[in-house]
Amino acid sequence: MTEDVFKKSTANLKKAVPLMMKNHVAATPANYALWYTYVDNSIPRLNLELESVIESYGICPPAAGDQLYQRHVASQTETKLSDLRASIEILVGEVASSMTDTLTDTSQFSEMIDKSFKNLERVEDESMSLDEVMAVIRQLVSESRDIRHSTSFLSNQLSTASNEISRLKSQLADVQREALFDSLSGLYNRRSFDNDIQTLCQSEQNFCLILADIDHFKTYNDNYGHLFGDSVIRGLARRLQSSCRDGITAYRFGGEEFALVVPNRNLRVARQFAESLRRAVEKLSIKDRRSGKQVGNITASFGVTERSEGESAESIIERSDQLLYEAKHLGRNRVMPL
Ligand code: GH3
Ligand code: MG
Ligand code: MG
Repeated sequence: MTEDVFKKSTANLKKAVPLMMKNHVAATPANYALWYTYVDNSIPRLNLELESVIESYGICPPAAGDQLYQRHVASQTETKLSDLRASIEILVGEVASSMTDTLTDTSQFSEMIDKSFKNLERVEDESMSLDEVMAVIRQLVSESRDIRHSTSFLSNQLSTASNEISRLKSQLADVQREALFDSLSGLYNRRSFDNDIQTLCQSEQNFCLILADIDHFKTYNDNYGHLFGDSVIRGLARRLQSSCRDGITAYRFGGEEFALVVPNRNLRVARQFAESLRRAVEKLSIKDRRSGKQVGNITASFGVTERSEGESAESIIERSDQLLYEAKHLGRNRVMPL
């Protein structure tokens, strides 16, 4: 490492660490990489997106950090999950050992050339016979054939290894996507929700929580089949996702239940937002592939709460769920509190 690179990386790290602490970011290698890249200013898009997350939430929630890391940092550098890393290490080991073999062959070859040249010099000094000269040349030709074999073997090994590494990298990206996102709806999954909401509560951020549950969802499964039910979940998720702005994040909370975190807004604003979601869901219609007909009248009920100071994640979820229950009780397709 040159002196300049060392100075720059130390300076970046000194800037990154306090920012990570301020934004309640866990000190994981991925987060270091993300915040290092941020203070390094090397990917302007990353900086814009990270700043807008912080502007919305006051901190950087883990799911948003993970996603930024994957989108901007992991795609450029090599990231490793333990077993994938092991495979890569084995590959690298194999390549290194064929490299060593080739290097040994190469150095033997160059010694051989030196020796051959010395021998050839003797042609003039000691007037070697033609047979002796031919023998030296034959030896050279055969050694050069060997070295050509070992270099072509090495280059094959290298290209196999580099294909394998690309495959592992794309597998790694899939694994990381699965860890954050729900495969049916494409929304953030429950695990992301739990992480984010814990982090927001621990760092005392203001936010509202909306829980939404599809009304009489069981009847879609019963009347049109489970696959149709899945399409309803997907369609509704898309509707929620496309309504999200101002840093609002949508999660699949469970079966046909969804959660939305609305950062830095009071109950009144979050309620209005939930009301707009309710109306957007009402307009939804999903095509039943079996009969070819459009199925409408899809509705959902909503419970909205604003986190109060010092409140735990469990408590705000519990309160939202209670309001959702009341919305169901009062006849569904409504937002509570009124
Ligand atoms: P309510 O208005 O009271 O919410 O009634 P509901 O029928 O929506 O609620 P209930 O809890 O009785 O039924 C939810 C059903 O959702 C039960 C379960 O089989 C179904 N479900 C859960 N996850 C999935 C899924 O991923 N796909 C499909 N198709 N169905 C699911
Ligand atoms: Mg339910
Ligand atoms: Mg339901």
